[in-house]
Amino acid sequence: MKVIVVGGGWSGCAASLSALKQGAQVILFERTDMLLGTGLVGGIMRNNGRFTAAEEMIAMSGGEIFQLIDQNCLHQNIEFPGHPHSSLYNVATMEPIIKRYLVQKGIEIHLSTRIEDVEMEGTRIRGIIGKEGEEKIRIEGDVYIDATGTAGPTANCSKYGNGCVMCIIRCPSFGGRVSLTAKAGVKELIGQKKGRIGAMSGSCKILKESLSRKIVEVLNRTGVAVIPVPESEKVEGKLSLKACQQYALPEFEDNIVLLDTGHAKLMSPFFPLEALRRVPGFENARYEDPYAGGVGNSIRYVGMSPRDDVLKVKGVDNLFCGGEKAGLLVGHTEAIVTGTLAGYNAAKSVKNEKLLVLPDTLAVGDAISHVRAQMETEEGLGYKFTFSGSVYFDRMKQKGLYTTDVKEIRKRVDQAGLAGVFSK
Ligand SMILES: Cc1cc2nc3c(=O)[nH]c(=O)nc-3n(C[C@H](O)[C@H](O)[C@H](O)COP(=O)(O)OP(=O)(O)OC[C@H]3O[C@@H](n4cnc5c(N)ncnc54)[C@H](O)[C@@H]3O)c2cc1C
Repeated sequence: MKVIVVGGGWSGCAASLSALKQGAQVILFERTDMLLGTGLVGGIMRNNGRFTAAEEMIAMSGGEIFQLIDQNCLHQNIEFPGHPHSSLYNVATMEPIIKRYLVQKGIEIHLSTRIEDVEMEGTRIRGIIGKEGEEKIRIEGDVYIDATGTAGPTANCSKYGNGCVMCIIRCPSFGGRVSLTAKAGVKELIGQKKGRIGAMSGSCKILKESLSRKIVEVLNRTGVAVIPVPESEKVEGKLSLKACQQYALPEFEDNIVLLDTGHAKLMSPFFPLEALRRVPGFENARYEDPYAGGVGNSIRYVGMSPRDDVLKVKGVDNLFCGGEKAGLLVGHTEAIVTGTLAGYNAAKSVKNEKLLVLPDTLAVGDAISHVRAQMETEEGLGYKFTFSGSVYFDRMKQKGLYTTDVKEIRKRVDQAGLAGVFSK
């Protein structure tokens, strides 16, 4: 049983591990020279409903990645505006930890390998074609997982954003994202709101060394620094561009919110550098990611796979999807959760065993089916969904799904008959 995963972001890593646990031989292809994709620059975990989702996965034995992240946090159980019990992982050291873990488990990882095309046999993918460095490769698997994300290529940032801002996706160096789903001939879904296509990534990173000592001291000690923005330097409307609607709160417009993820994570899609440098403490500020964070940010959610609740891509018999590819789900937690289910079901499909639909008594199951239903409507395509805030967190609270009581979460998983399901 050979499972091929394309895209080594959080969803691809989680999908690989999950398929491996089902006894598959797993080959993971990543176009850049590092795993984690946009997870190389994020770091916020366990805020609001993400806590519940992570604990549900741990109770279902699909939580190794959450546990590895928990062990590599700079700050745990901190609060920033609207976001209690948050953790911040160290973005500088997370990738090698995950890579070593996956390799040690037996996953075959091919970095700097960009998959460029698929060979179809009716409605099945027979093989995939790409380039490993300069060498052409062709490989066949039983089942494939599209975990290619929705960021890049550069043309999308130029067309729908403020141009290439030199982000962590590094399209010019490694070639842009190529979607397996699109190459298999499936019409993808596009996130759009009021005629605007896609959404801008919602945070930047500032080099800590370029900030005042006082700000750095607060950041290192507490994980959070909230600095009021002088009226003259506010950039109106920039929060409405964000992919991360959970941070589109007035507090984030009136203040500069910084989080310590190793560097200083600035909770704004961009901030003109000259204006930023006029804020006390930021006189020498310099962007670490994206390099042109004074101008804009990367554009995401321009190509998602139509899929069902087992995360199979509609129209292709042997293609599953996870992470942002599986819909308007924003976040590392969301990518790990959907990746885990995609990997599990991909392997089960090869074994001809029953595929798993997670029930709506669990936040994870409810989110997967709710977002699928929302993506079938024009209005729904205008939202982004995350356990950590905005419309989906409201729904979690209304349905009584949000809790930080770990015993209660385990009980719900037990009642659904799903304790340990991902290792069965
Ligand atoms: C600046 C920024 C900050 C963020 N901060 C946070 C945060 O603090 N907390 C949080 O929860 N979420 C955060 N997010 C969102 C979160 O990172 C994503 O929603 C999630 O990690 C997406 O994971 P993914 O695996 O679906 O996609 P991606 O991370 O986009 O990974 C896709 C991978 O596929 C690879 N790929 C694409 N095409 C091919 C191909 N043809 N062949 C081989 N490889 C290919 C790409 O190189 C990439 O590594 C942030 C996002 C950004 C951009």
